[in-house]
Amino acid sequence: MFDTIHVKPPLICPTCGAEISSLQTKELSDSMAHFKIGSVLKDSPVLTGIVQETLWCNACHHAQREQTNPPVYLVIWHSILAGVEQDLAKAEARLATVDRLDLIAWLDEAQRATARWRRHYYELLRDVQRWHEHLARLASPEPEPTGELAEKRRAFQRLFDLPPEILTAPDPLAAILAKHKHADEEAAD
Ligand SMILES: [Zn+2]
Repeated sequence: MFDTIHVKPPLICPTCGAEISSLQTKELSDSMAHFKIGSVLKDSPVLTGIVQETLWCNACHHAQREQTNPPVYLVIWHSILAGVEQDLAKAEARLATVDRLDLIAWLDEAQRATARWRRHYYELLRDVQRWHEHLARLASPEPEPTGELAEKRRAFQRLFDLPPEILTAPDPLAAILAKHKHADEEAAD
C-alpha cells in the first residue's frame, strides 16, 4: 500500500515538461493516506531527514516514453512533511531553514481546511434536512393556511425550502448530492 502526496505548485517532469501534482510513496506509512506539505506524518519511520523517491510521469507513461525515474526528495522535519524537491541541494536547504513562521503558515492552512470542511458538512446536512422535511410535508400535508397571514406564512416557508431547481429536478436527492459533490471538488483544489 502507498500514500499519496499532493504537491502545489506541481513538480515538472524533466523528460517531457508535464506537470505532476501528486506522487505515491511507500516510504511514509502504509495507510493509504493523503499528505501535503505541512502534514504530520505520524507513522513515518523517518523523523527528520530527506527521503529519496522516484518521480512517476503519467504523460510519459501514456506516450510510452521510456521513464528515466528521476529522483524526488521528501523533506521531513520533526515528522512534518516540510517540502518536496527535485533537487537535492534545494531539499537540504529546505530542511535547514524550516522555522516557526512555516509552522504558523501550516497551522493557518490546517485551520482554514477545517473551517471549509465544517461549512461543507453543515451545508449538506441542512439540504438533506430540508429534503426530509419536504418529504414529511408531502406525506402528511397540513391544511392550507387561510386568513391575512397566509401569504406571509407561505413566503416565510419558501425561505426555508430547498431552491426550486432542486425541488423540480427529476431526482431532487441526486441534485442535492451533485451540488455538494461540486463544492467538495472545489475544496480539493
Ligand atoms: Zn514526462
